[in-house]
Amino acid sequence: MISRRNLIFLGAPGAGKGTLADMLAEEFGLVHISTGDILRDEIKNGTELGRKAKEFVTSGGLVPDEIVAGMVASRLTKDDCANGFILDGFPRTLNQAELLEKSLAKVSRKIDKVVLFEASEDLLIKRISERVICDKCKANFNKVFSPPKKNGVCDKCGGSLLQRPDDTIEKAAYRLKVYSEQTAPLIPYYKTRALLAVIDAGQEKKISYPALLGVLN
Ligand code: AMP
Repeated sequence: MISRRNLIFLGAPGAGKGTLADMLAEEFGLVHISTGDILRDEIKNGTELGRKAKEFVTSGGLVPDEIVAGMVASRLTKDDCANGFILDGFPRTLNQAELLEKSLAKVSRKIDKVVLFEASEDLLIKRISERVICDKCKANFNKVFSPPKKNGVCDKCGGSLLQRPDDTIEKAAYRLKVYSEQTAPLIPYYKTRALLAVIDAGQEKKISYPALLGVLN
């Protein structure tokens, strides 16, 4: 049973975590919690949290652990999380993983599985630098691999498709370096806790989604 599971999607930027999280959330009624999306909304709305996070997000560096972990802890207290959730882009450091464990314990929940999305660095850079995102509904498109029907317009809601400021080739390379230095240590961390499953995320979603279902069943 995939419904009611509490999952972490782990993997470098561009690995397709957000796309498959949307698909899984929709099929099984899970809540998709993307810390990147929450931070971009806070920045767009000019909140205090957004002002604190802006320089980190724009540069491709990590927002301080306490800020992000506090944001996730408060999201996890909401009722909808009782039906299961997918954390996409969190935790990104060992410290965040420990803070998450503590906040889940407070609401008597635990992580059921961590899925690692594996893809080559070349492919990740290509996916990131060609990615455009809907300003309104946040749907992702790729100008090469999965283009929208009409250039610059979201297929799902008609919103405008924009490139994220941190999705340039230079910033993508920096974000991959940050991933390998600060986030990759989570792989052995979750492996030793017997929570880790791995999927080949270098494939198209029609292949990687069934692979995801396969490791969750
Ligand atoms: P993403 O949409 O997951 O690629 O995240 C975009 C940016 O938001 C990252 O490059 C970071 O600046 C910030 N961010 C998202 N999640 C986290 C996190 N768990 N810890 C620190 N910074 C984060």
